[in-house]
Amino acid sequence: MKSSSKSAAVLKVVSGKSTGKARPPVPSGPASTSPSPAGDRTRIGDHFEDILRDLGEDPSREGLLRTPLRAEKAMRYLTSGYKRDIGELVNGALFEAENDDMVVVKNIEYYSLCEHHMLPFFGQMHVAYLPDKHIIGLSKVPRIIDVFARRLQVQERITQQVADTLMDVLQPRGVAVVSEAQHFCMMMRGVEKQCSSTVTSAMLGEFRRNKASKDEFLALIRSSMR
Ligand SMILES: [Zn+2]
Repeated sequence: MKSSSKSAAVLKVVSGKSTGKARPPVPSGPASTSPSPAGDRTRIGDHFEDILRDLGEDPSREGLLRTPLRAEKAMRYLTSGYKRDIGELVNGALFEAENDDMVVVKNIEYYSLCEHHMLPFFGQMHVAYLPDKHIIGLSKVPRIIDVFARRLQVQERITQQVADTLMDVLQPRGVAVVSEAQHFCMMMRGVEKQCSSTVTSAMLGEFRRNKASKDEFLALIRSSMR
């Protein structure tokens, strides 16, 4: 990433919107060729079958035959972040910083599961850092978010984890993360508020100490906030 500017006032702002439309959280892969309805499921699939039965369903009816297997695969995918290693993910994607301009990546969509109800919450993150010696390949920022999103989460924690990870990996002068999300446990049950969104933020280093840096970041993401 080259910069033509020597002025610290010039910012690189990258919008996550350029990466395209929302993708479904679970890829719809080809149907398994396993002849058995139970397929290659494990105990998790067996538990889902029990849950269906306990909910009053008939797990042997046609539409549900492969549901325990599908539900298991979906849950394994949605919690696959536990097995990802940040060091491995970032490996080779750090580059020497040519200047110290603020780097902002906006509108990074993410999907996670709330740890209280195991229901989805989803939203966007806006991430900024002030480079010291290194910058990171821009595609790595959404990948880091996904490592933490694909776990059972609360929004406050994932916001902090993304900020802490960038601080660790890049050792920049500061990191700022703002996340806004909508929670199915609030939309479909509980208070049933479909339009509320929750905003969380984590400000580290210079973004915490220096009001001007923080205000600059907030001004840059304001147009993206709901
Ligand atoms: Zn919840």
